[in-house]
Amino acid sequence: MKKYLVTSALPYANGPIHFGHLAGAYLPADVYTRHLRLLGENVIHISGSDEHGVAIMLNAKKEGKNYKSYVDYWHSEHKKVFDKFEVDFDFFGQTSEPYHAEEVLKWFDELYKKKLIEPQDNQQLHCKSCNNHLPDRFVEGICYKCGYNKARGDECPNCGIWIDPVKLIDPVCKICGSSDIEEITVTQWYLKLSKYHEKYRKWFESKKNVWRKTVYPFVDSLTRESLHDRAITRDLDWGIDVPLPEAKGKKFYVWFDAPIGYVSNTKQYLEKIGSSEDYLKDWWKNDDTEIVHFLAKDNIIFHAVIFPVMGMESGRINPPSDIPANQYLNLEGKQFSKSTGWYIDIDSAFEQFGADAIRYYLISIMPEQSDSSFAWKDFAAKVNGELANNIGNLINRCLKFAYKNWEGGLNPEYLKGFVQTEIGKKFKAAILEHKNIVDGKEFKKGIEQVMSMGQMANIYFSDLAPWAQYKEDPMEAERTIALTSIQIIILSIMLSPYLPGLSKKILDYFDFKLTDIDKKRIYTGELEVFDELLASGLKIMEAPKALVPKIEEKVISKLEEDLQGKAEELDNV
Ligand SMILES: [Zn+2]
Ligand SMILES: [Zn+2]
Repeated sequence: MKKYLVTSALPYANGPIHFGHLAGAYLPADVYTRHLRLLGENVIHISGSDEHGVAIMLNAKKEGKNYKSYVDYWHSEHKKVFDKFEVDFDFFGQTSEPYHAEEVLKWFDELYKKKLIEPQDNQQLHCKSCNNHLPDRFVEGICYKCGYNKARGDECPNCGIWIDPVKLIDPVCKICGSSDIEEITVTQWYLKLSKYHEKYRKWFESKKNVWRKTVYPFVDSLTRESLHDRAITRDLDWGIDVPLPEAKGKKFYVWFDAPIGYVSNTKQYLEKIGSSEDYLKDWWKNDDTEIVHFLAKDNIIFHAVIFPVMGMESGRINPPSDIPANQYLNLEGKQFSKSTGWYIDIDSAFEQFGADAIRYYLISIMPEQSDSSFAWKDFAAKVNGELANNIGNLINRCLKFAYKNWEGGLNPEYLKGFVQTEIGKKFKAAILEHKNIVDGKEFKKGIEQVMSMGQMANIYFSDLAPWAQYKEDPMEAERTIALTSIQIIILSIMLSPYLPGLSKKILDYFDFKLTDIDKKRIYTGELEVFDELLASGLKIMEAPKALVPKIEEKVISKLEEDLQGKAEELDNV
């Protein structure tokens, strides 16, 4: 039987999560997992904190904390944010835990035995002023490809290429700020990706019509000619020890160990739930498992090149089926940046607007095909104009009217035969189309589809005008309210992968419970199910309150001013 392993990029335990992260990897993974669950598929969603590497070391030192307590802090902060925004993982682990190192060593052993890992002398930068090695993010300079002036020693955040630090133009030490930097020769252990080029391309080319148009050509252009060997060890004092006597004191490079976290965390998950399944045989190495990595574009190379090669060549796991990477989400047209104040505090935004409004907006602007931008005015316009008007209002008007006039429940006679009505047929067609859209991992289009069903329901309700019908013929009005209530129930199921909180609030107004099977039937367009479900009527439990509070203009103006003010303040420092 088919299984799904959904992973979302391990958040780096080095600072707060922002909306760009949520829209880039976690919301799409969460929506997709919820979609599969509604369909009754066997799916697990795995993630966890990525807790090694130079950036963490620099910041922990700056704060005077030891590395472990520093990463533990951010791990728990991230977990809280995910809980608030209803991003559900089956397991959210930590790469600084011993279970993870145990798994990493198994990968190393296999790759080392196959001579895919070999020592090699390497030119590295060294700061003469503070006497430190400068791998990765310990050094910054001008990108030799695109000219961006804050390229790091591991990658260029602007054009996304891997950086060979010795080629950086005008390098600067990030530890002490000096530019008195020399090149020295150091032995490191390399992952010999070049040996694997032909086999890699054979696998990669099979993804041509599967992967996104923003992902495949990008990887294609970077791997067509050759694969570059990559150093996977570093001279650092934080990380997983390289288990070779001649590599004493060296640690694995964070990018070697981090993606293995998906695998080690899966093992922990199965142990936690007391499963008898084997994490490799039954999941990662099972040909019936679809492995889907959700991430943002800056992580593509590692997930599309290095990790698949490590998996295939170590023989521990199968390569991924899909890597639906998103582009970037900006803030009012500029990159999110805590240090420059161009930033939204995610906790206060949650306090102010709640998960439903924020999830709705982030999904509806999700940067699936191109970069997009979070803008406060647009946020208010979408929440007020779409979510509150289209969904909130309809439910409010219909259920209030129902509660007032048929407090004892709606007559089952009027609840019958929804699937044969014109609106029932339209709904069914829209549901089937929605399934195809979300199977194709297009979540922005998916939520648009659900909103278009909301519009259909609104038109239906306004055209029949039950309040006017009630005066002429209360039975006609009851039929309208009954069929609109069914549309509302369907809408709540369709919304549940996107807005699980709102979906539940809507369903709670009705006096019935849906089983997972019922939900699946509704979600796949088997709308005949309502004839059975509602055979003894339908009762509204209470008059609805405002489900989606409207956002006032002055609240938004204040937030815009605060953002500009904070940025200017920091600019003047
Ligand atoms: Zn660049
Ligand atoms: Zn220095």
